[in-house]
Amino acid sequence: MLKRRKTKTATVGRVKLGHQHPIAVQTMTKVFTTNVAACLRQIRQLDKVGCDLVRIAVPTKADSEALAKIIAKSPIPVIADIHFSAARAIEAIEAGAVKIRLNPGNVKDKNDIRRIIDCAKQHNIAIRIGVNEASIRDLKSDVAPAKRTALMLKEMRSYIRLFEKAGFDNLVLSAKSANTVRTIEVNRAIAANFEYPMHLGLTHAGLPEDALVSSSVAIGTLLAEGIGDTIRVSIAGDPVKEIQLGKQILQSLGLTPHKGPELIVCPTCGRCQVNVVALAKKVRIRLEGITKPVRVAVMGCVVNGPGEAADADIAVCAGAGKGYIYKNGQKTATVEETKLLDTLVAEIEKSKTESPKTDSKKDIKTETKKADSKPAQQTTSKKDN
Ligand code: SF4
Repeated sequence: MLKRRKTKTATVGRVKLGHQHPIAVQTMTKVFTTNVAACLRQIRQLDKVGCDLVRIAVPTKADSEALAKIIAKSPIPVIADIHFSAARAIEAIEAGAVKIRLNPGNVKDKNDIRRIIDCAKQHNIAIRIGVNEASIRDLKSDVAPAKRTALMLKEMRSYIRLFEKAGFDNLVLSAKSANTVRTIEVNRAIAANFEYPMHLGLTHAGLPEDALVSSSVAIGTLLAEGIGDTIRVSIAGDPVKEIQLGKQILQSLGLTPHKGPELIVCPTCGRCQVNVVALAKKVRIRLEGITKPVRVAVMGCVVNGPGEAADADIAVCAGAGKGYIYKNGQKTATVEETKLLDTLVAEIEKSKTESPKTDSKKDIKTETKKADSKPAQQTTSKKDN
């Protein structure tokens, strides 16, 4: 288990952020806030996929009014996203937001900030100080990229001082850039200087196919170093996808358990005996709706497949025109290629009522040895190598 950086605890409604609490996954709604019905519809979709916190843009007074109606019916604690306006911040707090995000780049008046702090104290809510590289650059557009990390840290430090001077410490910190390396650098610097919980994410990460890699690298690197208490994967797309990607990042680092099936698929190679990709895609579809945390492996051959699938609860290792089903490391059946999918799914279904796996790998070693001495031949069914 990765060791997390020691932090204070921030209270965000029913969610607590900090090293003693699970890392929360959050996103933003992407419909007009004034469209209360659409906003709530999106929030309910997010709730279904395990979203812990949802943030909502509040650019106008009408949005503040809508926010109160949304909060009254939201199944997830709501954060208000504030830019430029102290009035919006106070309206959002009074509407019931459990946290507001303030951007030091555009809410700068000290009297305004003190009024917001007083209101946040009265309502016992959290505030995220969310520094964005783009906002900092707006102020000092001549700052070279190499100096922006220091500038973001400086901006963060002076903003935090205002809060600490006013005796407010229910804070969450974030510093975002569209640049992966700078996001890592600035968050490392913030983690080294302050004890508050941290919100991680890239800003303007891009379309899902582009954002996936950069967000995973930036957020994953920091999480692996123990930094980060809540994450948001920003993509130009469905917020449900943001939550799913965020959860996958946490799962890949062992920071949250798999709640449903985990599918492992071999990358295929010249030993592959069946169309593994097509088989795995069908298995994935059949796994939808199964909530048991079962690890399923689809492997392309019996040479290395059984060994590589040893940690799976249930595995299929393809042979020429047939496949071998393994349960908890033991070979349990040999089936025709055409029946592989149904047999595998039947075994997964059966496993729902069975006790946890044993750890014997005896048969795997025997099978691997036999297969290694006589490599299986390719068949005409191989398509995806
Ligand atoms: Fe190749 Fe077999 Fe490994 Fe798949 S399981 S990558 S086919 S050796």
